[in-house]
Amino acid sequence: MSASTTAPARDRLRIAIQKSGRLADPARSLLAACGLSWRQSRDKLFCFGESLPVDLLLVRDDDIPGLIADGVCDLGVVGLNELDEQAKARRQIGLADAYQPLRGLGFGSCRLMIAVPEEWDWQGVQMLQGKRIATSYPAILAAWLKEKGVDAQVVELSGSVEIAPKLGTAELICDLVSSGATLAANQLKPVETLLESEAVLAGPVNELDDARAGLMAMLLRRLDGLSKTQDQKLLMFSAAEESVDALARLLPDAEPLLRLPGAGGAVRLQTMCNGALSWQRLEELERAGAQGLMVLAVEKSLV
Ligand code: ATP
Ligand code: ZN
Repeated sequence: MSASTTAPARDRLRIAIQKSGRLADPARSLLAACGLSWRQSRDKLFCFGESLPVDLLLVRDDDIPGLIADGVCDLGVVGLNELDEQAKARRQIGLADAYQPLRGLGFGSCRLMIAVPEEWDWQGVQMLQGKRIATSYPAILAAWLKEKGVDAQVVELSGSVEIAPKLGTAELICDLVSSGATLAANQLKPVETLLESEAVLAGPVNELDDARAGLMAMLLRRLDGLSKTQDQKLLMFSAAEESVDALARLLPDAEPLLRLPGAGGAVRLQTMCNGALSWQRLEELERAGAQGLMVLAVEKSLV
């Protein structure tokens, strides 16, 4: 029986985020943008939710999947790399899935990659046969090697994986890469991608059946509202009636123009655009008869 079905009903939602590190600030900012605020506790490990009954637990990122599995926390912001590693490790010892990614959050992007000494002439995965590969992601690496039909030795290290080849602990590594600067500084080059990762909101596989379910649904809806509006811009302008068709043709990627009554024979027009509206594009619209052009960022939306 899973922890979530045996746990007593709770009416406050608990979210685990990284205490400090790459995901700590963006996770807090995102949850604050969803309308959450907290009273900081003295020990700073537990933040009591003020605006809504949603509390924060500040922990190491490695602990987040386990906290969800044990029902201590309901949600967590964690790298897909960490979530996937721990999910695979659970499966390897015959445990059932206990958490799942619910939403990609668009930050903390990185790749889990195989990196080899710069002087290697990379010919493909068969070069890994019989080699020792240092990594902090043994379960993902083992599954990938198996899928590729490569027999190699996985050397598990908890940190400083990139110096393993220099120390002679392994010939090559499997580690997270974002800019590639750390690899280059250690005379390594990335050659294969095992996983494209980003921060995700993780939650339990079993649905909650008390007051927390409604809170979770509300939070997910607000998150969706934020990600939908991120690239949206409201474009407003006025134009003479005879220019409207030409202007609409210049905006093929926008929603159909909405017409509002304007002053002095002009029509007020507005539309929602996805992506950036360059100065050049605005000037083009102006030449086609648009006046008083305004581009407004969309802050929130519920759809
Ligand atoms: P903790 O003390 O919480 O265990 P940590 O050292 O394991 O911290 P960070 O280095 O802060 O963790 O990385 C957290 C997450 O940030 C990673 O699991 C990964 O999802 C993401 N990330 C993005 N880019 C990188 C990168 N270049 N190297 C490592 N992690 C990265
Ligand atoms: Zn960690």
